[in-house]
Amino acid sequence: MIKRIGVLTSGGDSPGMNAAVRAITRIGINAGLEVFGIYNGYKGMVEGYIEPLTTESVSEILTRGGTVLGSARLPEFKDIEVRKKAIKQLQRRGIEAVVVIGGDGSYRGALELTHMGINCIGLPGTIDNDITCTDYTIGFMTALETVVDAVDKLRDTSNSHHRCSIVEVMGNRCGDLALWSGIACGAEIVVTSESGFDEQDILDRLRDLDQIKKKKHAIVIISEKITDVHQFAKRVTLNTGFSGRATVLGHIQRGGSPCPFDRMLASQMGEKAIDLLMQGIGGQCVAIRDNQIVAYPIERALVMPSSSKKPLTNLFERLG
Ligand code: ADP
Repeated sequence: MIKRIGVLTSGGDSPGMNAAVRAITRIGINAGLEVFGIYNGYKGMVEGYIEPLTTESVSEILTRGGTVLGSARLPEFKDIEVRKKAIKQLQRRGIEAVVVIGGDGSYRGALELTHMGINCIGLPGTIDNDITCTDYTIGFMTALETVVDAVDKLRDTSNSHHRCSIVEVMGNRCGDLALWSGIACGAEIVVTSESGFDEQDILDRLRDLDQIKKKKHAIVIISEKITDVHQFAKRVTLNTGFSGRATVLGHIQRGGSPCPFDRMLASQMGEKAIDLLMQGIGGQCVAIRDNQIVAYPIERALVMPSSSKKPLTNLFERLG
């Protein structure tokens, strides 16, 4: 039976990471474990920045955005010698297993550590919803709320000025934030890496919206890493009847108090992680599929194809 576990947050932060840390700490302690916080992701593991967590020390963090454990990127963690240093730090404190809250990259680190004898369980902490084995990642719903709130506000002003608002949202090559917010905000056009970007076609459609459908404004939601939205907005102004204005929502999307769904998801996933570690299981990641909290081997999760976006893409088109 294991006695001591660690928990860390890694990669980009997301709202709900703290709720997961709290759940892991409290459920772990109530199950008889000692729980340690590993600060600044794998960097803190290598440097030995590791402190005990208590039921009290995780009070008041449930509602807070970001991560109280801090996050960092450490590309050197791919190097086995660096990981050996990290394992020494864990062994010195008697830590036998670790819960890693992060994205794909963090899962790879967790898998490597498991191969080296430290059982790790991954939890999906990212606003991008880009971990294919889970229907939702911790932070996605909160980020969606932030995007919807911002686009609703842009709609008011764009309506008054015959504007086309072009809104760039995050997603790291996953179009979910764009597509979901497009449906929830009644956007005219959504562009994702899955849909592709045909600029001429979009300009034609915007011209139609202005001249034929007599729309007072238009909203285009576009995923990051697709095009320079400021330059695109200029071409909208030149080629359509709308005045194009670009807004990059940026890191605002990562912040804020987690919404109830993310708090619930983080707590349920934290519970599952403790249950797995108590059974001596490692190298798995927790997911929600069809409303069930489940776990997959990380090796399998990393190569899972993304689920079909077709139903929601169809819905968006039928709403147009
Ligand atoms: P995310 O977890 O959000 O995908 P990154 O891709 O930046 O974020 O990964 C977070 C950290 O995970 C990296 O800084 C690195 O320390 C570790 N990591 C990523 N890939 C590997 C790998 N192949 N082997 C070991 N550790 C890795």
